[in-house]
Amino acid sequence: MKYKLIDTHLHLDLFDVPSMSIDKYKQKNHGFIAMTNLPFVFKATEKLCVDYNSAYPSLGFHPELVKDYSNQISLFMDFVDHTSFIGEIGLDYSRSSDIEKKKQREILEKILSYCNKKRKIISIHARKAESDLLKILEGVSQNLFILHWFSGTSRSLETALKRGYYFSVNISMMKTKKGREIISEIPIDRILFETDMPIVNKYGMCPINSLEALPEYLSKIKHISIDEIMEQISRNQREIIYYNNKLNYKEPPTPSMATVEGRGDFKKLVSGRARYCL
Ligand SMILES: [Zn+2]
Repeated sequence: MKYKLIDTHLHLDLFDVPSMSIDKYKQKNHGFIAMTNLPFVFKATEKLCVDYNSAYPSLGFHPELVKDYSNQISLFMDFVDHTSFIGEIGLDYSRSSDIEKKKQREILEKILSYCNKKRKIISIHARKAESDLLKILEGVSQNLFILHWFSGTSRSLETALKRGYYFSVNISMMKTKKGREIISEIPIDRILFETDMPIVNKYGMCPINSLEALPEYLSKIKHISIDEIMEQISRNQREIIYYNNKLNYKEPPTPSMATVEGRGDFKKLVSGRARYCL
């Protein structure tokens, strides 16, 4: 594939042999953002990613684990300044009691209040909790939010779009009517790709090859060519990867001949030599 793809939501630590998964991405020259579900796996994930410059470790606290591991919030705070990538974090009300939901909100608010104005790239999980999530995100600015595998209402989607959030989509979403409807509502300049590997759903796992199939699916939904899709997706990928560096990151200017430092001296030297040779 001529385009480099970035899997913006993957769980490296959940694979039996995580290094083998990295090798697969390396072979294909695709990048990934490696989610963690709890802070205590972040350091090991960071270590696994160190040798691959397209691997980005992400510090997470999965909402479904909050009830048993809420004491890990202090570890989260120890690591939060070490990375620009946060996730996955969020709210999951699908199987939670009211007390658990409250605890999830507390942890999420704590994380986000710390991340406010810190230019973090944050992957968000929300299940049956979109309206509370959007309320909590409302006051949090200068971060880039990626709503992962969005499944909320069109009203929540509209709010999220107005606020400029990104959406990471996967092949399983393409296989359901609701998933396709959601994707059709999201402008192409807000779409990113993901697999959520190795999480299995009723359609199986979204393998690494599914990333490469996404442009074609998207091309059918959006009625634009695969090349146009991939040009925009590549732009979106650059946008998120450089987001945190943007304030400092400057595209290096292409020097014009006149401004190449020392060129004048070199010219003098060469012309002197030329005369000498003649
Ligand atoms: Zn996930």
